Amino acid sequence: LVALNIVAEDQAQILPLGSGLEDSWFEHDGQITKREIRAEALSALAPHRGALLWDIGAGSGSIGIEWMLLDPANKTIAIESRADRAERISRNARALGVPDLIVVQGKAPEALANLPRPDGIFIGGGASQPGLIEQALAALPKGGRLVVHAVTLETEATLFHHYQALGGDLIRLAISRIDRLGGFHTWRPALPIVQWSFTK
Ligand code: SAH
Repeated sequence: LVALNIVAEDQAQILPLGSGLEDSWFEHDGQITKREIRAEALSALAPHRGALLWDIGAGSGSIGIEWMLLDPANKTIAIESRADRAERISRNARALGVPDLIVVQGKAPEALANLPRPDGIFIGGGASQPGLIEQALAALPKGGRLVVHAVTLETEATLFHHYQALGGDLIRLAISRIDRLGGFHTWRPALPIVQWSFTK
């Protein structure tokens, strides 16, 4: 794998092997699963060699790209409703050495029809769309993993409902990063993420 992001010859960066690349590796517009959360999400997805991921509401593509970077046999289909973001996903995939990532521009759940069945599904956007989680669950094989992120109370409520009906795991991740406050330092919290993960 070519793992160099060449800015200038003397500034080549080595792409680390661990999940949770710094956000700056990806071109994004602010809609990106942040580094620490992304690393945890990939762990929760329990990837195995050669597995196909549906990355639904793929944004910058960071989850699906890191899934492919885990093993050359891994495959990702990224589903993203916005055209500008869909194009950005392809650019990021090429820049990070996984040009075979497939991008489907369209709105889930409709855009999921006729896609090859996945081994794992990540939903980072659109989880409050009626029928999306049900369709994702139906598409998974037995033993397949579903991981869904919520930042709004509405989506949290949907995840709590599924947790009560089916079980799985529900966690809340709250990351703060150091920031300046006048001449001092403080913690700047990012929006907390609620994650539901489930093995079919
Ligand atoms: N995991 C992404 C960030 C997701 S942000 C990353 O790391 O980059 C949520 C994304 O979901 C946005 O880009 C939004 O356009 C997309 N989205 C929201 N609802 C959707 C739907 N129903 N179908 C497809 N994409 C959707």
